[in-house]
Amino acid sequence: MSEKTDAELLMEELFYAPKHASYVCGDEEIRLADEFCEGYKSFLNACKTEREANAFTKAMAEKNGYAPFDRKGSYKAGDKVYCDIKEKALILCTFGRQPVENGTRIVASHIDSPRLDLKPNPLYEDSELALFKTHYYGGIKKYQWTTVPLSLHGVIFRKDGSRVNVRLGEDEGDPRFVVTDLLPHLDKQQSSRSAEDVVKGEDLNILVGSRPFLKEKCDKNVKLNIMKLLNEKYGIVEADFLKAELEMVPAYPAVDIGFDRSLIGSYGHDDRVCAYPSIMAEFAVENPEFTSVTVITDKEEIGSDGNTGLCSDYLRNFIADIARIQGAEGRDAIRASECLSADVNAGFDPTYPSVHDRNNAAFLNNGIVVTKYTGARGKGGTNDANAEFVSRVASIFDEAKVSWQIGELGKVDEGGGGTVAKYIANLGVDVVDVGVPVLSMHAPFEVVAKTDVYMAFKGFKAFLEKK
Ligand code: MN
Ligand code: MN
Repeated sequence: MSEKTDAELLMEELFYAPKHASYVCGDEEIRLADEFCEGYKSFLNACKTEREANAFTKAMAEKNGYAPFDRKGSYKAGDKVYCDIKEKALILCTFGRQPVENGTRIVASHIDSPRLDLKPNPLYEDSELALFKTHYYGGIKKYQWTTVPLSLHGVIFRKDGSRVNVRLGEDEGDPRFVVTDLLPHLDKQQSSRSAEDVVKGEDLNILVGSRPFLKEKCDKNVKLNIMKLLNEKYGIVEADFLKAELEMVPAYPAVDIGFDRSLIGSYGHDDRVCAYPSIMAEFAVENPEFTSVTVITDKEEIGSDGNTGLCSDYLRNFIADIARIQGAEGRDAIRASECLSADVNAGFDPTYPSVHDRNNAAFLNNGIVVTKYTGARGKGGTNDANAEFVSRVASIFDEAKVSWQIGELGKVDEGGGGTVAKYIANLGVDVVDVGVPVLSMHAPFEVVAKTDVYMAFKGFKAFLEKK
């Protein structure tokens, strides 16, 4: 006999109690989540940088019936287009049955992740070792990036203007690269420094070779040998580095974590774990009531500045363009638009409970996190979503049986952060942050739960399809 008491029944009725998605989903939906995450892992492995995510998504979009957007074209409901933003960001769009001036439904995520960028003049030799100087990109705990196998990605332009695409260290048989660290036997001084300075920015030097050019002795035989190999492989000379964009990222693939395989460990979940579900949701939308605008942006990790970040006008301009071809004003379309800023939030980590307020933290497997505001020091520097809009989004999720939870980015005054939400909100759009909770965020190996990834897909799709 397990009759519920009056108090238990009343608690069920009155209390907020987020649940592990497994109790809500059922076997079939768990299977769908696992299946969805196989696609996600492939995406992670193919897309280690914003350029790779852009190119991969463009190719997928073309297979799914998207054509390059023509600013002078004319489109009918259900037509699908993409707009390439300098090969680093991308907009996918499905025209709705209602005119664009009645508003669009935007889902915006980012495809850049913290990493080590090469300096413009990176290659040097010291003590008969060849190394690359780096300048880290985004908020990293620098000590985490030592002794991790790294791969090299990016583009180089030769003197004649021709372009070399580099992706080295991902395939079987490729060499890897690494930032070395001190042995514990000799780290007395190093380990007495604060964690922030244990490894300094200028210490993130990458080991790239050690054998000398043999024919005759000069003072940089190892560097010369590396440059000779690079010249043979890519046809470049040292001066071509000055014009290159090269990024070092962890070289290992995404893997299942746990005996139950319920989690995924990988580099770059932030924010591909929202980008991939949003792209798949966009592809799945057939004939939406409102025009869908799915943005995968660049430069979020360094503040969204620059012409591929969301502080620029590219999103506003795109919406203005699709409004204009229907004879409408861009500002009317923007004013009536609604947006999910799709970005990760910190998952509650039982090893480090003190940084969270348990009642306002996000837990792995409890579904996507709705984050009303981020910011720091008394909500500074954030979009604080309107209750009206949060309530609309919540009812869309409830109707579509999407598991969701509320979550703050840690305790008050514990730290803070931000997303693209405020830049889109500043246009006059209703925006709220919705995303997947992550453990070890910004580490070279982050962890998410598969059911949460799937709930992101379901949630974004329900939002884009809502009448
Ligand atoms: Mn992010
Ligand atoms: Mn981030």
